[in-house]
Amino acid sequence: MSDIKSLRITSGKGFSLKDWDPDDASLAPAGKAKTSEEADALALRIGELQELLYAEHKQKVLIVLQGMDTSGKDGTVRNVMSGVNPQSVRGVSFKKPTEDELAHDYLWRVHANVPGAGEIAIFNRSHYEDVLVVRVHSLVPEAVWRKRYDQINDFERMLTETGTILLKFFLHISKDEQRERLQARIDDKTKRWKFQHGDIEERKLWDDYQRAYDEAIEKTATKNAPWFIVPANRKWYRNWVVGTAIVEALEKLKMKFPEPDLSGVKIV
Ligand code: AMP
Ligand code: MG
Repeated sequence: MSDIKSLRITSGKGFSLKDWDPDDASLAPAGKAKTSEEADALALRIGELQELLYAEHKQKVLIVLQGMDTSGKDGTVRNVMSGVNPQSVRGVSFKKPTEDELAHDYLWRVHANVPGAGEIAIFNRSHYEDVLVVRVHSLVPEAVWRKRYDQINDFERMLTETGTILLKFFLHISKDEQRERLQARIDDKTKRWKFQHGDIEERKLWDDYQRAYDEAIEKTATKNAPWFIVPANRKWYRNWVVGTAIVEALEKLKMKFPEPDLSGVKIV
């Protein structure tokens, strides 16, 4: 694995976002323009590897995107999935749970959306919201959400033990960067549709969210289900990091196109 290994957390002991610089771009192969081109090339490579994944019909790939409001989850989905065949990739956004979802355990809606053989699923938010927004807003008692770290680790271990490659990305932006992006949502007509009044209220809880993220990552970074801490103040760098991590994980699978038995086949 390349240098981005340094962004990959497989054990969360002592983890704190304070130790990570959201402005960092030190691993970029070049400056902004060239790195953006490289990110586009990675998206095409993901498309090729996905074709192989689909053809092999063995492995499953689950990509989890988390981050504060405006951290670029939507933009990342758009960029890294720009070269893939929509037939075998599923983007899933997890919103406030519906009444039906709330009537079930919190992993129910998540499990229902995990990828099948040959598929890539990309989650925009995930079961992690159940130890993040749920914690920050005390939507369930602490004794309930606290148990979830172990439950999530068990769930993710089960997924990885049954053939799922699990990659979790935290898109790390600074509080100042969020102010600028929220302002852009107000100023830019093409972005305004994304603005939610709740975003302003959530921003006031910035420190609570950072603490919740610190603990969530600390408790759930494992060898089989690592977290990547992606410096995300610069979109071009964020795209390059996520693209690189996905390509490297897929290339490690050493996939091959299946070779059907063609003996005796004759087209008349
Ligand atoms: P967005 O990602 O901007 O479309 O917003 C989705 C909203 O759904 C966010 O405000 C999340 O905090 C909220 N959300 C997602 N999952 C949950 C959950 N399990 N419980 C409560 N709110 C959630
Ligand atoms: Mg939003």
